[in-house]
Amino acid sequence: MLGKVKLGDEPGRLAALHRYQVLDTGPERPFETIVSLIEDILETPICAVTLLDADRQWFKARRGVSVCESARDAAFCNYTIQQTEPLIVADATADPRFADNPMVTGQPHIKAYAGVPLVSPDGYQIGTLCAIDTKPRDFADHEIKLLTKFAKLVVDELELRLEAGTNSLTGVMSRRYWMMTVDEEIQRAARNANLLSIALFDIDKFKRINDTYGHAFGDLVIRTVVNACLDHVRAGSRLGRLGGEEFVLLFTECALDQAVVAAERCRRAIEAIHLTAPNGDEVRVTASFGVAPLFSYALSPDDLIELADRALYRAKEAGRNRLEVGQVAANIYPDSA
Ligand code: GH3
Ligand code: MG
Ligand code: MG
Repeated sequence: MLGKVKLGDEPGRLAALHRYQVLDTGPERPFETIVSLIEDILETPICAVTLLDADRQWFKARRGVSVCESARDAAFCNYTIQQTEPLIVADATADPRFADNPMVTGQPHIKAYAGVPLVSPDGYQIGTLCAIDTKPRDFADHEIKLLTKFAKLVVDELELRLEAGTNSLTGVMSRRYWMMTVDEEIQRAARNANLLSIALFDIDKFKRINDTYGHAFGDLVIRTVVNACLDHVRAGSRLGRLGGEEFVLLFTECALDQAVVAAERCRRAIEAIHLTAPNGDEVRVTASFGVAPLFSYALSPDDLIELADRALYRAKEAGRNRLEVGQVAANIYPDSA
C-alpha cells in the first residue's frame, strides 16, 4: 500500500534509505539505463539518481558529474526531498535560494535544475532523480512528467532489488545475493586497486538457545543480533545471511585493520545484548568472528569465505566470543601492510 509522503521524520527517512543497502554499491544496469534515457530525452549535460544520506548526497547513477558524492548542505536535491512537488529552477543565478550556492558560483556551475523526489512505498523521500543544465532553461510539463515516471521506476527497481536479495527473517541480503554482490565488488576492487575484506560470524552455542527456549525465541535472537550489527557498521558494509545463524559482512574500500575494528565493534554489540526468554530467564548471546582480506584480486567469493571460515573455526576452538584474522601468504595490496 502506498503511504502518504512523510516529511520531517529524518531518522525514519534514513532507515528507509539504509534498508535498501544501496549506498556505496557499484553501477547497476537499470539505473544506468534510466540516467542515459534522461540524458537523451531532456538533453541535459548532467543527470543523476541521487540518494540523500545523513551528511552527503551519493549518486547511484550519474552522467556529467565526476565525483560519486558531495556534501548534503549545498545540494539542490536536499531541497527537493523537503517538498512533495518536483523542484524546478530555470535560472539558479536569479533565484535567491541558490544564487550564492557553491555549485552555482563554482563547479559544476548549475544554472537550471529539475528534480523529482524518490518516494519509498512507505512514504519517505530517500533521494531524487534530477536533470541539470549549465545554461538557464525551462523544463516543459511533459519533461517533468517523464522525470516523475522514471523516478517511480527507480524506486520500483530498488524494491525489486531488495525483494530478490533479502532474507525474510532478518531483512539482510540472502546468500545468493550477497555472493553476487561480493563477486562484483571483487572485480571493482581489481579495476580500482581497492581494498576489500569480509567478516564471517556465527552465533555461539545457538542450538542450546533454540533447544532451551524454542525456535521462535531463537528467531528473535537472530533478528536482535542482526540489528545490533547494523547499528555498528557503516551503511556501505553489506550484511548477508550465509546460513542458519551464520552471517557475513562485506567491507569495501576498507583496509584489513579497519574491518577488524568494525567487526570487533559488532562482536561487542552482540555481547551486550540482554533478552528475556518466555520463561523469564535473562539470555545473553555471543558470536565468533573470522575476518579475511582480499589478498589477491584473483580470489573468488568462495575462496574468500573459506579463508574467513578457517579463521572463524580458530575463534571457536580458542573459546568463542572472539575474533581471528585469516592468515595469508602474501599481500598484493599497494602500500598496505
Ligand atoms: P557453535 O558455537 O559451534 O556455533 O554452536 P551452535 O550450537 O551455534 O552450532 P550448531 O551449528 O550446532 O547449531 C546451529 C543451530 O541453529 C541449529 C539450527 O537448528 C539453528 N538454526 C538454523 N537456522 C535457524 C533459524 O532460522 N531459526 C532458529 N531459531 N534456529 C535456526
Ligand atoms: Mg553457531
Ligand atoms: Mg553455524
